[in-house]
Amino acid sequence: MNRPKTVCIIGSGPSGLTSCKSALECGLEPTVFEKKLTFGGVWSLDQTIPWDSMNANVSHYTMTFSDFEHPHNQDLYLPHKKVYQYLSSYANHFQLFNHIKFGCTVEKVKQLENDKWLVEWNDSSSKTSESKIFDFLIVGNGMNNKPRLFPMEPLNSFTGHHIYSNQYKSPNDYVGKRVLVVGKSSSGIQIASELCESGVKSVHLYGKGKLNEWAISANNQRIKNILKGKGYERDLIDSGVPIDFIVSVRSNVYKMKDLPEKEFNIEMNKFLKQLSGNNCDEPSYQNDETNFDKPFKILFTGIESYIDNIKDGKIQCLSNHSLINSNGKIIEFLNELDQTKTQIEFDEIIFATGYHLNFSFFEKDILEKLSFDPIDNYVPCLLYKYTISPRVKNLGFIGIFGTPFYSLIELQSRWVNYLFSGVVNLPSEKEMEEGINEINDIRKAKYKTLFPFKDYVLFSDQLAKEINCLPDFEQMSINEPELYDMCYNSVSCSSVFRLTGPFSNEKHALKTIKHFNECFKRINN
Ligand SMILES: Cc1cc2nc3c(=O)[nH]c(=O)nc-3n(C[C@H](O)[C@H](O)[C@H](O)COP(=O)(O)OP(=O)(O)OC[C@H]3O[C@@H](n4cnc5c(N)ncnc54)[C@H](O)[C@@H]3O)c2cc1C
Repeated sequence: MNRPKTVCIIGSGPSGLTSCKSALECGLEPTVFEKKLTFGGVWSLDQTIPWDSMNANVSHYTMTFSDFEHPHNQDLYLPHKKVYQYLSSYANHFQLFNHIKFGCTVEKVKQLENDKWLVEWNDSSSKTSESKIFDFLIVGNGMNNKPRLFPMEPLNSFTGHHIYSNQYKSPNDYVGKRVLVVGKSSSGIQIASELCESGVKSVHLYGKGKLNEWAISANNQRIKNILKGKGYERDLIDSGVPIDFIVSVRSNVYKMKDLPEKEFNIEMNKFLKQLSGNNCDEPSYQNDETNFDKPFKILFTGIESYIDNIKDGKIQCLSNHSLINSNGKIIEFLNELDQTKTQIEFDEIIFATGYHLNFSFFEKDILEKLSFDPIDNYVPCLLYKYTISPRVKNLGFIGIFGTPFYSLIELQSRWVNYLFSGVVNLPSEKEMEEGINEINDIRKAKYKTLFPFKDYVLFSDQLAKEINCLPDFEQMSINEPELYDMCYNSVSCSSVFRLTGPFSNEKHALKTIKHFNECFKRINN
C-alpha cells in the first residue's frame, strides 16, 4: 500500500487548523508546527496579541467554518476567549491535536529537486533542531507576526513609557494617566474606546484619516432606525444588527458586481455614509462627496460607543497632525492644515500600528518567485487567488492577504489540500499567470479597496468554484426556491459551500443555513 503523502503546515491559527482538518479529510498526513505552546494564533490565550477585553469586530456568523457551528444563543460579537473556545471545540471535534507539534518554530524550508520540502524546526522543549522531508508545504503563519515599528526618531526625547498593542492587557494599568494611542485602525480604536471609559485622565488618538473611510460600529443599534429613515438614534432595546449582515447579502453583491467601478464606488460610499451616521465633527470621517467615485473603506469599530466618545470629547483625535518632536513628557504635533504646532503632555504611548508577516524561513529564490514584499500587508505575495503560485510547486498559502475572513481561509485550505491530493486539478499556467497579473494591478493601484479583492462574497464564490462546491444558483432558483432564497437573498453563510461538491454534507449544511437565515430575518425585521 502507498504511504499517505505528507503535508507540513506552518501555524496552528485558524488557517493551520482548517488546513489540518482538510488534509485529514483528503487522506493526507499533516504535521502542524506551532511555535507557541498553544493553538489559535491571534485568538490563543497565551496573551501575545489579544488583550483581556478584545472583541471580534465581525459577527460570529462571519467567523463560522462551513461544517462547525458556534453554540446557539452566542453574543453576536464574541470576546476573544469565546473565539478561542470555538477553535478549541473545532480542533477537538476533528481530532486535530495529535497532529500539532507545539513549541516548534519552523526556521527554514528548502525546496528539493524533486519538489518536496525539507523543513527544519527548532523544538523549544528539547532545545534541539530537527528536520524532515515533506511532500507538500502549507504556509498559514498569519499576517500578525511582528509588530510594525513606529519610526521613533521624533520620540527620542520622550521620557514617558511606551508599549506596542500586543503588550497591552487592560485599561486598569492606565487609570489617571494621559495616554496617546498611535494608530487609528481596529485595535487602536478599541483600545482608545475602552481606555476613555476606564478612568484615564485623557486619551488622544493619533493617526491619519483614509480616503472614504467610514467608521461603522460592528454591532450596530442604529442601523434599523437609519435604514427606516428614522434618524441616527440608538435603539437600546434592540440587540443590534451586525454590519456583515448588511454588506454580505449575495443577491445585493451580484446586483452591484457589474456596475462600472466608479458607479459602484459612488453607490457604496453613499450607502455607507447613510449607515455610518457618524455626524461627529472629526475631520477624518467627514468624507468629501467629490471623492465618492474612489474606493471606500469600512472601519469595523467593534465598539458601539467609539463615535459617541469622539463627540463627547472623551477621545481626542489628532488626525491631520504629524508627530514632530518630544521633550520629556511633552509631545509636539504639527497641524498640517494650518501649520500650527500643539504641545500635549503624555505619560504613556500605546502603538497600535499593526503587524508585518514573517517569511524568514523561506530562501531568497523562493521569495523572489513569489514577488514577496515584506512591508505590503495588503498583497504580500503575487499568488493566484492569493493561494498558489505557478512558479513554486507543492506549496499553498492560507490567510496571507489583507482581511482573512474564516470562510475564505477555509476555502483556501480545502482548495490547496484538494490540489495536493488530486481531488481537483491545478488551473492552467496561462490562467494562473493572468490571475497573477490582476493581483499585481491590485497591488500597484493608487487607491486601495477595502479588501484586496472586489468583494468578500464574490471572492468566496470564486474560490468555491475552483473546488467545485459552488452551488448552481440558477438551477437552485428553479428546483429549490426556498433554499435559493436562503442562500442567495440572505447573508452569506460558509455552509452554502458544503451543499455540493467534494466532502459535502448537505444535511448539516442545511441546518446551519436555516439557522443563519432565521437570524437574518429576525434581525432585518
Ligand atoms: C488584533 C486583531 C484583531 C482581529 N480581529 C478579527 C476579527 O474580529 N475577525 C476576524 O475574522 N479576523 C480578525 N483578525 C484577523 C486574524 O488574523 C484572523 O482572524 C485569523 O486569526 C487569521 O488566522 P491565521 O491562522 O492565518 O493567522 P494567526 O491567527 O496569526 O495564526 C498564525 C499562527 O502561526 C504561528 N507561527 C508563525 N510563525 C511560525 C513559525 N515559523 N513556526 C511555527 N509557527 C508559527 C503563530 O504562532 C500563530 O499561532 C484580527 C487580527 C488582529 C491582529
